Amino acid sequence: MSAYLIPAADASFIDVPADHPFPIQHLPYGVFRPRTDAEPRVGVAIGDQVVDLAALANEGLFDHEALAPDVHPFRADTLNAFMALGQPAWRATRSTLHHLLREDTPTLRDNASLRTRVLHPQDDVSMLLPAAVGDYTDFYSSREHATNIGTMFRGPENALKPNWLHLPVGYHGRASSVIVSETPVHRPCGQRKPDDDAPPTYGASQLLDFELEMGFYVGTGNALGTPIRAADAESHIFGLSLVNDWSARDIQKWEYVPLGPFLGKSFATTVSPWITPLDALEPFRTDGPDQDPEPLDYLQPNDHANFDIKLEVQLQTPELDTPYTISQTNFNYMYWSMRQQLAHHTVNGCNVRPGDLMASGTISGPTEDSYGSMLELAWRGTKPIQLPDGSERSFLHDGDRVVMRGWAQGDGFRIGLGTVSGTVQPAQPLDA
Ligand code: MN
Repeated sequence: MSAYLIPAADASFIDVPADHPFPIQHLPYGVFRPRTDAEPRVGVAIGDQVVDLAALANEGLFDHEALAPDVHPFRADTLNAFMALGQPAWRATRSTLHHLLREDTPTLRDNASLRTRVLHPQDDVSMLLPAAVGDYTDFYSSREHATNIGTMFRGPENALKPNWLHLPVGYHGRASSVIVSETPVHRPCGQRKPDDDAPPTYGASQLLDFELEMGFYVGTGNALGTPIRAADAESHIFGLSLVNDWSARDIQKWEYVPLGPFLGKSFATTVSPWITPLDALEPFRTDGPDQDPEPLDYLQPNDHANFDIKLEVQLQTPELDTPYTISQTNFNYMYWSMRQQLAHHTVNGCNVRPGDLMASGTISGPTEDSYGSMLELAWRGTKPIQLPDGSERSFLHDGDRVVMRGWAQGDGFRIGLGTVSGTVQPAQPLDA
């Protein structure tokens, strides 16, 4: 089945500037409260408005046969029920919203009372975590990132481990600490061992970092024991979200042998409140990097499996008036595609479920200004990032704010992934 494409020439009766992240071609999903005392419900962003899908359903404006009326997927505090309905329901909903929001459809455009019931200014609502994330998996799929990290810790000759070019390396992350953008992040405490010749100590991480990643949410899952084929994998993907996989490098360095990341990662992972449907990104497909050696059959086909999405990271220290851009890169640099990640994740029969979050791993480009972590940008503290006020950073200080953005540039419109922001709060150490 082909993607539900909204033509570049289409416009909404809601005014959307050409560089706005949420034109009619986008229609990202989120969960919001219109007022602090109201029940959460599913919404879709267009311009600076949120469309209340529960209210639209109440007005009888959805084709309920496609949407399983007994499920009430929009009168919900997560998107999981809607995700579980599958691609035909997602596309039917996208088609209905496209029709209702077009400039030549009078239903909402000419009915002020109806508009009051179903449209809310984004400034007036609070956004919630969009899904109940049952499982969170983090991959390590940027060749540039893996090469940089390997070079720093093992030297350029042994930068990539022997498995890296044969499979998308990943680990099981922590779902309970996946948080929505703007949630404060406390500097974690734990064991660090800065001196090789001294025993470890307990305390606040001194090497707090971000990781710029793209995540995807599983829509429909698979039965235990039944792998998802690469050719079918994208029909299981509900949509994409930016991810900041906060990382405490000192805790990580001491703990990670031999089983991988643990407390250096599990204290917080920030996601966007908006999930971009895969169909909205269809015009931005591209081929990824050449894969050599040829991946095994179960990781094929992989044609046109990458997406041209520009990414940037901004840092705002307490002393800076405005955020300063410290990295610009692109999602199309990823060596292993989302399709391959999901095929690999399930090839052993592992079941994935609606709302599961799979993140790409840090997205680094080939140049020094396109790296997706401070560890790389400041090259392990040897080349601190220079800020416009003359100060510098190798890792995050308390009060520092990290802002991540991404967008695909279309012909006269832009698909902007929701912003992922977070500010570092002081550590909360155990009482002595
Ligand atoms: Mn990560």
